[in-house]
Amino acid sequence: MSDSHLMSTYARQPLSFTHGTGVWLTAEDGRRYLDLTAGIGVNAMGHCHPHLVEALNRQAGKLWHLSNLYEIPDQERLADRLCAATFADRVFFTNSGAEANETALKLARRHFDLAGQPERWRTIVFEGAFHGRTLTTIIAGDGEKYREGYAPHAPGFDRAEFNDIDSVRALIGPETAAILIEPVQGEGGVRSADPAFMQALRALADEHGLLLMVDEVQSGNGRTGKLYAHEWSGIQPDVLTTAKGLGGGFPLSACMATERVASAFGPGNHGTTFGGNPLAMAVGNAVFDILTAPGFMDQVCAVADHFRAGLVDLARRYPTHIGEPLRGLGLMIGLPAHTPNTRIVQACQDHGLLVLTARDNIIRLLPALIITPAEADLALEKMAQALDTLAA
Ligand SMILES: *Cc1c(COP(=O)(O)O)cnc(C)c1O
Repeated sequence: MSDSHLMSTYARQPLSFTHGTGVWLTAEDGRRYLDLTAGIGVNAMGHCHPHLVEALNRQAGKLWHLSNLYEIPDQERLADRLCAATFADRVFFTNSGAEANETALKLARRHFDLAGQPERWRTIVFEGAFHGRTLTTIIAGDGEKYREGYAPHAPGFDRAEFNDIDSVRALIGPETAAILIEPVQGEGGVRSADPAFMQALRALADEHGLLLMVDEVQSGNGRTGKLYAHEWSGIQPDVLTTAKGLGGGFPLSACMATERVASAFGPGNHGTTFGGNPLAMAVGNAVFDILTAPGFMDQVCAVADHFRAGLVDLARRYPTHIGEPLRGLGLMIGLPAHTPNTRIVQACQDHGLLVLTARDNIIRLLPALIITPAEADLALEKMAQALDTLAA
């Protein structure tokens, strides 16, 4: 037994950091690391972005927490801005990805209940999906390791193949309410839904009166070079959940929906103590300032193209260890490993570069959106050095 009093839900690296700036982290021993994990896609503006620090500090001296019993003007403001920039008409703020997905699943049930179709309560989900760690979302998601030991399992989910529209159609029945999909799967191996598949899902949802719900907890907030990844396919969902990058490191998530769907919630139908608190709203608005600044998304696309070209080049130089094609979109990058991805992650860490894994033996890169081409080049250099030691 370890001498830690923490529950051992994580096999942690023996590595702890004291501070960070931009894409850089400094460890306790003074060593610097180039961070391509960004707290699993959370620190979208890097560590300690001055605009975010300023917003948090300013709010910290005014008001930390209220309750949703009172008006919170910054909540109204961020909701206005999110709705102006997306398909959505209404927003409900929460604190984590799983909570945002729970909100979406509850909203779908209530929507059909009020529509006089309470028999419609099932949701079509996908192979390789990840939607969070609550008793419901571990079943909405795929993956035996997340649900092992947690029987009985939440009912109401039917699993289709990713990018296979016939497998979705085959699951639609009189009880189907919604389709829930990650436009780019993160944990599931950085797999992108084909635009044609997303368009076919929209058409199928319309044909059968189903809600199309996108989980953009990881793919949202500029990660793929669009504000939300579903925009690449030109479709509009009925419900969207997001988290990770939305608060830039402050716990913040949201469930967004069209008026038609969101109107199913009235006072008392759903709630949260912490969701949408003034601190989170101050930082969320500051993140949104940067995300929507003129040219920012172009910059994300440009650095992503640059980084991806370098990674393709690297894959050709080290075919024993890494390969093609690269997965994902924008700065949500999956690099196929040909040796165990955990070995490469460790070698990278030994060379001062932090990277992630994903299913399918993928090396997952989720750098801060503010990474520069020069920093991307440095990351490629460190990765090459790491791969050199593996070859030896
Ligand atoms: C991370 C993630 C979640 C869960 O978010 P939590 O904040 O850990 O609850 C849900 N869906 C997707 C797609 C994610 O990447």
